[in-house]
Order: sequence, then C-alpha cells, then structure tokens
Amino acid sequence: MMRHAGIPLQLDVQAIDLNNNTVPTLAADDIVTAEIEYWPHNHATQTLAQHPKFINAGVFDRLADRLTQKQLLDTLQIATAPWREVTSETTATALYQTLGERVLLKSRRGGYDGRGQHWLHQTKAQEIPEGWHQTSIAEQTIAFEDEVSLVGVRSTTGECYFYPLTLNLHVNGILMASIAPLPHIAQAQRSALQQQAERMLGAIMHKLDYVGVMAMECFRLGEKLLVNELAPRVHNSGHWTQAGASMSQFEAHLRAVARLPLCPPTVRASSVMINLVGVERDNRWLQLPAQLFWYGKQVRPGRKVGHLNFCDSDATRLIESLTTLRTQLPEPYPDVIQWVLRKLHVS
Ligand code: AMP
Repeated sequence: MMRHAGIPLQLDVQAIDLNNNTVPTLAADDIVTAEIEYWPHNHATQTLAQHPKFINAGVFDRLADRLTQKQLLDTLQIATAPWREVTSETTATALYQTLGERVLLKSRRGGYDGRGQHWLHQTKAQEIPEGWHQTSIAEQTIAFEDEVSLVGVRSTTGECYFYPLTLNLHVNGILMASIAPLPHIAQAQRSALQQQAERMLGAIMHKLDYVGVMAMECFRLGEKLLVNELAPRVHNSGHWTQAGASMSQFEAHLRAVARLPLCPPTVRASSVMINLVGVERDNRWLQLPAQLFWYGKQVRPGRKVGHLNFCDSDATRLIESLTTLRTQLPEPYPDVIQWVLRKLHVS
C-alpha cells in the first residue's frame, strides 16, 4: 500500500522482507523507513540500521518494548492504564493489591493483534505463569466505553497534522472495523477529544523527534483518553484514509520521510473500514461501492488478508452497502457489521 501511494509522487518504494536476510544495494540518497516496529536481529536489519538515511532509527526499539513505551508516556505525563513492571520478584498478590482484581499481563515485546496477553483473576487465585516474569508488564483492566485511535504525521521541520479520531472494534484483540470521524459522539465532545488526543500524540512525536506517520490507540472513558499503545508506523485503523481523506496515511508518511510538503488532510465523508480476517476472497464485494484491498496472502484463521473501505456522503447508501456486505461474510461479521450500523445510528 505504501508502494501504491508512492506511484503518483514518483517515489519508488521497494519493500524489503526482513526475514529474507538480504538487502538490495542502497544508494546514499535512498531513504529507509519501516512499517513494523519489531525487527529481527540479522544481516538485513543490521545493514538497514547503518544506512545514514534510516528515518526514526532510534525510535523502533524504544516503542517496540512496552516497558520503555510506558516509561516514555509516564515521563510525558500522558495518561495510560495503570501498570507495573513484572520483575523476577513480582507476585500476583502484589499486582492484585495495586491494580485490582483483574490484571492483564502483556508481553513486553512481540505481542500484537491480541497475542502476548494473559489475564489474571484474583477471584480464581491465579498466579503469574512461568515465562512471564521479566518479560511482561501488568496493566489494570480498564472498563472503557470505546476504543479510538489517532493517526498523525510529523515532518522533518516539526509540523504535525492529524486525521480525525477513529472508532475501532476489536474482536479477540484483532481490529475488525473502524469508523471515522467518530459517528456516535456530539460535535462539542468530539472536538474536545480530538484536541486532547492531538496534544498527546503531538507531544510524543516532538519528544522523539519523530518523522512520518504514528498511530496512538486509546481507551475512551467519558471525556478522558488513556493511551493503550503507540505504533511508530502507518496503522490498520488509518486504512480508511485511502478512500476517506484527501491524502492517505501512506502518502502522508511518504511525503514526510521524503521531505515533500505536507498539508492538513481533509475528510471526504463518513468512512467505514472492514478488515477481512481469515476469509476467502469474494468478488461479490466488487459490486459494492467500496475499495477492496486484497493482500494476496494465504488465508488462515485470524490472519488479516485484506480490507474494504467505504466512504459515502449518502448515509442511506452507506447503510445499504453494509447491510448487503453483512450477508456476504461469515461469523463473526454479522455482529461486527451490526455494531457498525448501531454506531451509525441504525438499529
Ligand atoms: P493491545 O495488544 O494492547 O492492543 O490489546 C489488544 C486489545 O486488548 C485492546 O484493543 C483491548 O480491546 C484489550 N485491552 C488491552 N489492554 C487492556 C486493558 N488494560 N484493559 C482492558 N482491555 C484491554
């Protein structure tokens, strides 16, 4: 998708498979950027890390470890779920005392899409399992109202622009659907949340002297946002921008790292992104007024294999499209699409 976004700007984006261990010969003025924060240590990554134009080189390790990411947020006094480091000495009793009776252990590295999580329940007297000491952090369980995310971009000269907050639905930790702008919150509260989120992500990007697109996932509790996690890259919850904004997140990232001018993205209309997770391709989707991005990966349960973007200023047509799609997808999509329709104020 990054390569696709580069074509109209005549930016030649070459994807490098980090596990393949070979890197094409890079010219001194090539730019190295990343769309994943977990880097294996091998010849390919070492070569890339030494390139003089590896943008944000110091950021990935810091954010890929949940411990150092939380420490950064604490330093900036940005609200997160209360947390503790799980050291060799930590006991479940101590965690229950400080964080409450349901505690979520999260692997410091490598956990995403709901992987690398383990719940501890005081009522079941659960202990910290083997292998989680020194490799995880513990978080308080947050009874959030919604999960929202903010995607922003920062230029080499420190200008920042943001997309509107996006409402996200996760099932078993995997993003299934996004809606933008927030469809279910009154305008005044939406602006206050947007300002709050922009202040937070702006402060983070400035502190890291970050260049490019970064995403911030949050829990919403009324008018307050708590940061759940940061992604130093283009993000799945920003895929709707391909159809719904004047400049997609992919183009924004490329412009920033290539030092091309940026401008505030404008939003076309209500957008809905449906992630295609573990489902076979169905060309009936092409009869809907939507963009299909099919990744050409082998279909496996729980694997993201594509997405559909709907952007429509005609609310009735948007609802009709989603209602048709609901009949074309297996479980759990009928519930996912019902959730979207409810948020769009349709019962
Ligand atoms: P993460 O891997 O941190 O993005 O978490 C995946 C999903 O787990 C999130 O999207 C939430 O739905 C849920 N989750 C993560 N952290 C918490 C928490 N502290 N309290 C409640 N739910 C959480």
